[in-house]
Amino acid sequence: METIVNIIPTNPISSMAAGDMLQLIAFAVFIGIGLAFLGEKTQGIYSLFEQANEILMLLVNFIMKTAPYGAFALIASAIGGAGLDAVGSMGAYMITVILGLILHAGLTYSLIIWLLGRANPIQFYKGFLPAMSVAFSTASSSATLPVSMKTAQENLGVSKNISSFVQPLGATINMDGTAVMQATAAVFISQVYAIPLEFSDIIVIIITATLASIGTAGVPGVGLIMLAMVLNQVGLPVEGIALIIGIDRILDMLRTAMNITGDATCAYIISENDKRKKAI
Ligand code: ASP
Repeated sequence: METIVNIIPTNPISSMAAGDMLQLIAFAVFIGIGLAFLGEKTQGIYSLFEQANEILMLLVNFIMKTAPYGAFALIASAIGGAGLDAVGSMGAYMITVILGLILHAGLTYSLIIWLLGRANPIQFYKGFLPAMSVAFSTASSSATLPVSMKTAQENLGVSKNISSFVQPLGATINMDGTAVMQATAAVFISQVYAIPLEFSDIIVIIITATLASIGTAGVPGVGLIMLAMVLNQVGLPVEGIALIIGIDRILDMLRTAMNITGDATCAYIISENDKRKKAI
């Protein structure tokens, strides 16, 4: 309960100074609501935020150019220090993320398709597989959007109206595959650095990973950058990201496939219910 109350900042400036990400996000959401209400009147501030975002993305891109060298050095020192155990732990991390994604697709998506959409999940996966394979090869939800909309409309019978509202929205804010990776990575990094996590830390990880995944852009690798926010929130070392950067691409491909499947699942459920309503 205290964690939830703590999300509301009493002083946003001191939350910024302390790097309290949850409070910052809550503050940003309030400002966003204000901007949405005021529309034209606050066009200047809106453009300021947009341009600040452009500058930050450019700087991140510059920094990411040096990432392979940093990752090489950190992975080499991790393996040098911990021996082959480090390779084993990285492998275990990878397998955990993959199992989490499979479980999420096989259980969560399938169950909600069956229960809420009263449809057959196997049928859904059969029809949507072509889009999943494009997401897998591009590792970008945004780049896959045209294909995933076309696949949902043609193979799953989702109407254009539903598809063109739900899927673009989902491609921007619904990234559950990314959230699965971020939560697993946070726990993995806490174990590598032997920093114990309390139950309340786990709850904070769940909330922050969900929020961080909403803020993740649908392009390759951004989920890993947003992971810094999750780590910060529970006091884990951000350098830990370097340990998983080397193996992230393959996980990025898998989680992107999962991200766009979540959007299509939602569109499919709405569409199936809509069809049933129209048939009555
Ligand atoms: N590549 C992911 C996507 O486009 C985002 C990420 O997790 O890095 O959905």
